[in-house]
Amino acid sequence: MLRGLPELRFPAAQLRGRRYPEPDHLYRSPFQRDRDRIIHARAFRRLENKTQVFPASLSDHFRNRLTHTIEVSQIARTVASVLALDESLTEALALGHDIGHPPFAHAGEEELDRQMRSFGDRFDHNRHALRIVETFEQRYARFPGLNLTFEVREGIVKHSRDFAPGEEPELDEYLPGLRPPLEAQLIDLADEIAYNTADLDDGFSAGLLSLDDACAAAPAFADFWEQAETQFPGATLRQRFQEVLRRLVDLLVSGLLEGTLDAAASSHVRSCDDVRAFPSRLVRFTPEAAAANAALKQLLHRAVYGSPALVAERTVSRERIAALFQFFLHSPERLPETYREPLESQPAHRVVCDYIAGMTDRFFERTYSDLLEPESRPS
Ligand code: MG
Repeated sequence: MLRGLPELRFPAAQLRGRRYPEPDHLYRSPFQRDRDRIIHARAFRRLENKTQVFPASLSDHFRNRLTHTIEVSQIARTVASVLALDESLTEALALGHDIGHPPFAHAGEEELDRQMRSFGDRFDHNRHALRIVETFEQRYARFPGLNLTFEVREGIVKHSRDFAPGEEPELDEYLPGLRPPLEAQLIDLADEIAYNTADLDDGFSAGLLSLDDACAAAPAFADFWEQAETQFPGATLRQRFQEVLRRLVDLLVSGLLEGTLDAAASSHVRSCDDVRAFPSRLVRFTPEAAAANAALKQLLHRAVYGSPALVAERTVSRERIAALFQFFLHSPERLPETYREPLESQPAHRVVCDYIAGMTDRFFERTYSDLLEPESRPS
């Protein structure tokens, strides 16, 4: 068993707390409460009907954004627990890491961003996640949003990158120039481990990847395949594939643990404050795991994300998002009542973007066909 990094764990005494003060709970820590608030949020439930990579219309076996989120949380909690970090802070961040995703995965995010840029504005799913937990979720009589702790909100806005002072004026309160604690740093790589291995699995099931292709592109895959063939000569192809996949997850998670322990040792950090002040993130893969991860990523880009079927799917999604965005922009009176009120204080493009970003794939399709294809509606 590894010794972990208990000295680098986020210290409860440093908790900056909630925007609206609340008394402590009798038996749940602040981060456990944040985790529970995220699980009970509407935005969390909507993840079930949001595409991860493969649209739900293709098969019920593929990950959606909710099952992906659960896989990220499982991996992240393992890493946090072995490193002796605050597992609840990590779990809250893992469960919330994708709640800001619009419908249709990256195609949806890119198209909303493209629409917003024509108004000199932007769409980013991490920023949108912050708006959800700060404003859009309405579950409390005393305050808007979920009133999450500062640390969870900071982890949300620094999910994939850090920012310098002055770079993002709206995020000035979230310690620009400083790294987030290790509990937050590990989410991004747990996310990568989860989706690279899961997309390999789903891509194989979808028939987009061949074994030869995977063996040629990723030496780690080829090694594990050879092991599985020797060890389980009578197993089916699918069973051997699962054996390889499990070993790949293990290789990446172990590489993440070792890489982080090495980085912590060589950087001589002694506390969470040192982690924050260190010029780069300390959660990282060993060079071997980084190479395996990069090879998988490259393979997936070529064989899965770049496959004609998924490229065509994304093109259609982008066109439909653009069309619905333009429709609401020109006919804001067709927005639901809860979105017409903010039109008085915010520009229409922002309100339309918020409305579409919150939609599930299924709700988007229904809205699109009701408003833009009324002739195709079943009578
Ligand atoms: Mg993710």
